[in-house]
Amino acid sequence: MNVLVVGGAGYIGSHMCKRLAEAGHHVVVLDNLSTGHRSAVQWGELVEASLGDGGAVAQTLRQHRIEVVMHFAASSLVGESMTDPYRYYANNVSATLSLLQAMHDNGVSQFVFSSTAAVFGEPETALIDEQHPCRPINPYGNSKLAVELMLDDAARAYGLRATALRYFNAAGACDSRLIGEKHEPETHLIPRLLRRAAGEALDVKVFGTDYATRDGTCVRDYVHVCDLADAHLLALEYSHVQPGFHRFNLGNGDGYTVLEVLRAAEDVVGRSLDIPHGPRRAGDPAMLVASSDKARKVLGWRPRRADIRQIVEDAWAWHQQPAY
Ligand code: UDP
Repeated sequence: MNVLVVGGAGYIGSHMCKRLAEAGHHVVVLDNLSTGHRSAVQWGELVEASLGDGGAVAQTLRQHRIEVVMHFAASSLVGESMTDPYRYYANNVSATLSLLQAMHDNGVSQFVFSSTAAVFGEPETALIDEQHPCRPINPYGNSKLAVELMLDDAARAYGLRATALRYFNAAGACDSRLIGEKHEPETHLIPRLLRRAAGEALDVKVFGTDYATRDGTCVRDYVHVCDLADAHLLALEYSHVQPGFHRFNLGNGDGYTVLEVLRAAEDVVGRSLDIPHGPRRAGDPAMLVASSDKARKVLGWRPRRADIRQIVEDAWAWHQQPAY
């Protein structure tokens, strides 16, 4: 199929492009390079434009006879969304609406959307499945939920075939070492630990040691970026034959505490990282772990790189590349 990957110069988007190309699909990337990297676009032509630019999007859809749009481009910093919510509604909601309108106007009827565990807010159960109530606690989560609601409406009204994939904590990098995680600023635990290990002067702390968890630090469900790409491909195939709007939670179902991740990182880099304990970070729930039963049963998804050590090893290999 001809697939437009919006945000394909970013971390998860670039892994998706690689996976799509391996599966024989024709890939076109649309990205404004505001946070993505030109060097990450290796499996398809780059159209340098914003997703909110209806004219550029419409022309790209027509020129490349696009059949499916996969949408990874978003502002995704929870803290920033609290202080600048308009930016989140503009980039994540309004620009996505413009993308969907351009697809509708040009007869493109299949859409795969990067959503997030942040749509759930404070977890009410240990494992979060698709029935869990959606009550986001920040504008970032609200903006992603708003798009999910639009997709549900669009599926009913226009016959859009749409899938929202709610990722828990994406991490790792593909074996090729050609692409990986490179955010500025970097807020995520694993790349912060590894950048620190690589000698960057990052002030990394364990955020909170008084949570009601097995060692007092937060539990998160880390899922390998290549496993996420596999899930998207399966979702694409599923929604091709199954009309409507579908939601899937994507995680390993196993949580690791911050201290367990730190130990894995120390193991992989072969020395102590000397990370001090600090206060809690505002807005962090104690535990966020996915039930991915639905993705496993309905899509046949099997995460193949669920072990935290493997995830950290792959991320570390990327961080040591000259390209990084
Ligand atoms: N964390 C930490 N120190 C850091 C960055 C993150 O202790 O420098 C913790 C954070 O409080 C959370 C976990 O690591 O409990 C994962 O955070 P991350 O930002 O990677 O992902 P999130 O779960 O917020 O999406």
